Amino acid sequence: MSTVTRSLTADLRRLFPAGQVLDSVEDRTLYAYDGTSIKALPELVVMVRGVGEVSTLLRFASDHEVPVVPRGAGTGLSGGSVPAEGGIALVLAGMRSIKEIDAGSMVAVVEPGVITGVFQKTVEDAGMFYPPDPASLNYCTLGGNVAENAGGPHGVKYGVTKDYVLGLEVALPSGDVVRLGGKQIKNVTGYNLVQLFVGSEGTLGVITEITLRLLPKPPAKKTMLAIFDRLDDAATAVAGIMGGGVIPATLEIMDQRSINCVEDYLKLGLPRDAEAILLIEVDGMPAAVEAEAEVIDRICREKGVRSFQVAKNKQEEDSLWKARRSISPAISAARPSKIGEDISVPRSAIPAMVREIQRIAKEFDLPIVIFGHAGDGNLHPNILTDRRDHKEMERVEQAIAAIFEASVRLGGTLSGEHGIGLSKRPYFDLAVTPATVKLMADIKRAVDPKNILNPGKIWRA
Ligand SMILES: Cc1cc2nc3c(=O)[nH]c(=O)nc-3n(C[C@H](O)[C@H](O)[C@H](O)COP(=O)(O)OP(=O)(O)OC[C@H]3O[C@@H](n4cnc5c(N)ncnc54)[C@H](O)[C@@H]3O)c2cc1C
Repeated sequence: MSTVTRSLTADLRRLFPAGQVLDSVEDRTLYAYDGTSIKALPELVVMVRGVGEVSTLLRFASDHEVPVVPRGAGTGLSGGSVPAEGGIALVLAGMRSIKEIDAGSMVAVVEPGVITGVFQKTVEDAGMFYPPDPASLNYCTLGGNVAENAGGPHGVKYGVTKDYVLGLEVALPSGDVVRLGGKQIKNVTGYNLVQLFVGSEGTLGVITEITLRLLPKPPAKKTMLAIFDRLDDAATAVAGIMGGGVIPATLEIMDQRSINCVEDYLKLGLPRDAEAILLIEVDGMPAAVEAEAEVIDRICREKGVRSFQVAKNKQEEDSLWKARRSISPAISAARPSKIGEDISVPRSAIPAMVREIQRIAKEFDLPIVIFGHAGDGNLHPNILTDRRDHKEMERVEQAIAAIFEASVRLGGTLSGEHGIGLSKRPYFDLAVTPATVKLMADIKRAVDPKNILNPGKIWRA
């Protein structure tokens, strides 16, 4: 269904500076994808440079009932920025100013198109720390992180994006602009609307400014690698560490298949015969870091670790993190397609969930790679497959449903950080009751009565 007529395009061109409204097939194709394999062409692409332009575009789209799909860097892993119902791709990547770093209040004010890694580096250069660290941090935007409530390895100790968002400026579908929260750490003045927009996947409003909380930079850290002969022992060690009185800064797991994919890809010298490795980091004051590393070493030995090593220098540390951050490209190279999931279970259910995924891999005769943020119960089972093989894809669909069912049965849910978007929409009802879906739909209707903002995402209307 085409909603953007030639005359609407001409009207928009009159509203925006030259070069910001694009309608060639080449330009539209660039904005038809995200990090999944889902594709849908927008009818028009509009690049914006500031909140005024966002507001103008939304008011126009609302008047003409044209869908608008906000977009940061398009690295999302659930189809969120794919314009499934056509309309306008609203590109925010050009709004990339770090407006303020306020060291006194330990907050920063940024535009949504700032690249996460650039922001982290700027904050570190100012002697502070912004912990949320999605593996895509060199490409993704802070606006996309807020819209997806992105997380990363640091989540286990420091939480995820939502724990750092103090204030937002949001352009509503009507074009009205609201300012929510601010630089205050404590604020109970009315409903917590800031958090309503965090994780709303671009369906409620367009984020045009973000106020983020910062932390002091930890003075010391240690990175450790624990190699396990048995995956089950590694999963039990995760529960042991989390129950052992230490909260590591990161606690990541890689199973044998991920180890081997990374070895094939990078040849880092990882142990191909080990069933699992844990990548653990502790940070804080130097004496605390020493003591915590000793506790973790002891717990891993009690749980049957084959070897436990501490990175001796920055180069060794970087090489360990390179292994973890390369899993996604490494497994993409292993088979023609990969389908990555993002389940989240209570920490204590990690060993049971790992066993369930292994059982499902056997039952459906599919290679499933397991890695993820074990310390906060967030696993990324990735099915290696070939989308051209329709028979195998039927088994893949069944395996995905079985993984989600197992996660929910164990007290977990469908997504820990990638969101629902389009790819997990068919399974939404597994994890959310009809009354909750109705509440979400009522909120959506109140904020976006014409359903113009990122329609068709999260649940089936
Ligand atoms: C290799 C790889 C590794 C990844 N690792 C991680 C990881 O470790 N942790 C993790 O959480 N994610 C990870 N991701 C997923 C992805 O990077 C995150 O979801 C990220 O937050 C998306 O940011 P983006 O700028 O690319 O957003 P996009 O993909 O452009 O958009 C994502 C969603 O946010 C909405 N949106 C974007 N900007 C705005 C805005 N300003 N206002 C309102 N809505 C907006 C879009 O409509 C869409 O629904 C990974 C992706 C890849 C490709």
